[in-house]
Amino acid sequence: MKRDIIIVGGGAVGLMCAYALVKQGRDVTVIDEGDITNSTSFGNAGLLSAFDKSPLSYPGVVGETLKLMLKGESPLTFHPTLDLKIYRWLLKFVQSASEERMKKSMALFEKYGQLALDLYTQMQTEDGMDLDLQKKGLLMVYTQEETFKQKVKKSQNEERFEILDVAQTKHYLPCANDRIQGSVLLKKNAHIDPRCVMLEMKAFLEKSGVHFILNEKIEDLIFENGDIRYVKSKEQLYEANTVILSTGYQIKLARKELMLTPAKGYSITFEMPEILKPKTSLLFADMFIAMTPRRNDVRITSKLEIGSNNKEVVQKQINSIKENFKRYTLPFEMKNPVEWCGFRPLTPNDMPLLGRDEKYRNLIYANGLGWLGITFAPAIGEIIANLITKEQANGDSDDIMAFSGFFQ
Ligand SMILES: Cc1cc2nc3c(=O)[nH]c(=O)nc-3n(C[C@H](O)[C@H](O)[C@H](O)COP(=O)(O)OP(=O)(O)OC[C@H]3O[C@@H](n4cnc5c(N)ncnc54)[C@H](O)[C@@H]3O)c2cc1C
Repeated sequence: MKRDIIIVGGGAVGLMCAYALVKQGRDVTVIDEGDITNSTSFGNAGLLSAFDKSPLSYPGVVGETLKLMLKGESPLTFHPTLDLKIYRWLLKFVQSASEERMKKSMALFEKYGQLALDLYTQMQTEDGMDLDLQKKGLLMVYTQEETFKQKVKKSQNEERFEILDVAQTKHYLPCANDRIQGSVLLKKNAHIDPRCVMLEMKAFLEKSGVHFILNEKIEDLIFENGDIRYVKSKEQLYEANTVILSTGYQIKLARKELMLTPAKGYSITFEMPEILKPKTSLLFADMFIAMTPRRNDVRITSKLEIGSNNKEVVQKQINSIKENFKRYTLPFEMKNPVEWCGFRPLTPNDMPLLGRDEKYRNLIYANGLGWLGITFAPAIGEIIANLITKEQANGDSDDIMAFSGFFQ
């Protein structure tokens, strides 16, 4: 049986591609090596943080990271490796840290972040999905005097920001202690519960006729006459007109070099006294620790480990997150903690890798969403679905040409 569209990888990106395609009347099959309950798309912070946030490679990133490393508060760990690709990735990361690149990235973040936020709103209001979407802004909490002053300077007299001193910050973050410097509320940002997104989306897609083949790993792609014809698991061959690869940080199936590196991160989800719970999502900006209030608990996430392929939760890293967090918060008990780790598919300039393979036109990549996969996933689905249904070449799609890291 020949299928219309096969999506390999049912993380947020794959499911959002399925959503946009099924809305455009296409027949879609999602194949995943797991059961869609514990990919990177589940354990993340759920921040929809496209607005007024600089990319990871911003001017000054190297100096600031070194300073934090000396203080023991840096989220970054680099594991030296013999894999030369990582050093090329690092070089491009450093090269991307220019003022011009940052402005361009932030404009793209704003455009596709808004599209994604509108689509999340539509999913909740029109499709009836319960995503726990909260449009209350993102609080950037500063622990270093210098970085807070810089942020205040940039945020003055702008409607989209609210500058808060320590006492005002404590209104939003009652568990903060007096060591924080203050905060800036980025009003346009939002957050969701990623677990709700994944489970509600899967249920919606099943109802809409999307076929799911789970617990089956695709091991190879088979090509004929310049096209991809089959995807192959241990047990089966599946034939398709079009194949989308949305396999997150796992890129062995790709037929071209995808310049992305797995960047390991952690989350700790716990219950805390209601009175101390933050009123909105926040980021301890100097330490890259995010904190998201959810219906029944709170999640903190952090760490950016490059060069590691260890899939286990490393207790030293969990302890380091807790120590850094506790330095700036009142003492309280983290009840029923659940510790988790996952890998971000991180590109050096924060641009996702989207578009058709040059050699095999019906093979399409939707990868490299890095630390912003939940923020952008619905927009990526829309871009990829348009590419397919309008039968566009990469060059015909303004979105691919503007946003895809293949062209930058
Ligand atoms: C600690 C942490 C915090 C984060 N916080 C945020 C945040 O606040 N906001 C935000 O926007 N983003 C955040 N992110 C990033 C976000 O989680 C990712 O960008 C996003 O989940 C990537 O989605 P994906 O669909 O590309 O990949 P994944 O979620 O990894 O999904 C890929 C899927 O492909 C499947 N797969 C892989 N290979 C095969 C194969 N050969 N055959 C079959 N199936 C296969 C896997 O099983 C998996 O289900 C965070 C990430 C981390 C680690």
